[in-house]
Amino acid sequence: MSEASFKPGNTPHSARIYDYFLGGKTNYSVDRKAAAATLAALPDVMTAARQNREFMQRSVRYLARERGMRQFLDIGTGIPTAPNLHQVAQQEQPTARVVYSDNDPIVLAHARALMTSTPEGATDYIEADVRDPEVILEHAGKTLDFAEPVTVSLVALLHFIPDTDEPPALVSRLLRDLAPGSALVLTHGTADLEVRDESGSVHDVERVYRDRGIFLTVRPREAVAGFFRHLDLVEPGIVASCDWHPEIAAPDEPPALPGTVSPAETSVW
Ligand code: SAH
Repeated sequence: MSEASFKPGNTPHSARIYDYFLGGKTNYSVDRKAAAATLAALPDVMTAARQNREFMQRSVRYLARERGMRQFLDIGTGIPTAPNLHQVAQQEQPTARVVYSDNDPIVLAHARALMTSTPEGATDYIEADVRDPEVILEHAGKTLDFAEPVTVSLVALLHFIPDTDEPPALVSRLLRDLAPGSALVLTHGTADLEVRDESGSVHDVERVYRDRGIFLTVRPREAVAGFFRHLDLVEPGIVASCDWHPEIAAPDEPPALPGTVSPAETSVW
């Protein structure tokens, strides 16, 4: 590898490509080129990314509002994009405590935006790989009380973990010692929701990413359901991200109108 190839802008990163899809500015030319190739392969991917982000917000709002959840461990948190998870949680529960984690140094560089906790609550960040769950859990224990319920969120993360790293075992380890009343929030890329037409396939996205060194693995419904084994699913269960409680709104948002989002527009659960 030449010295030039070590420059930060030389390799596309999943966090920065996703940032571009969300309309963020924390991305380099190489990421935008990868994003353009991805959009050429599957134009719906931008909608799917935005729906995924909105699902994260709705699921956290639901847990904080309806279940009184006050502790969150968000792994693969991504480049900060308002509202971040702690802002949603603390709007409902001002004392909420949130630990963020990601393995991309670019996220650490922007982590200040994740540290804007309410005075009553707390936020923290650890740069770590989800494949090192012990490191993450030990650090999280400084901010979170694992004797009380904790939500573990793995939103749009596990499709970056190949089968050889055993994602089900990682999820089991993260959940193993959680208190009753804890929760798992998860989305995952899939081809199962695709409408077969000329508009492309998620498998083309896998190819575009892999050609650029990002090992993406979309998985079928059964594999995603496996992550929730032994857990009670909140209704309506495993569905397209846009179909999971679209009516849940921020306190200052008008309620969602039914039928404004087409399930065919997403390829993320
Ligand atoms: N959870 C956020 C961001 C999803 S983008 C959201 O849904 O809005 C996926 C994130 O996972 C990126 O920030 C990327 O850096 C991170 N990621 C990818 N592989 C990872 C790994 N092995 N360990 C931890 N984070 C990882």
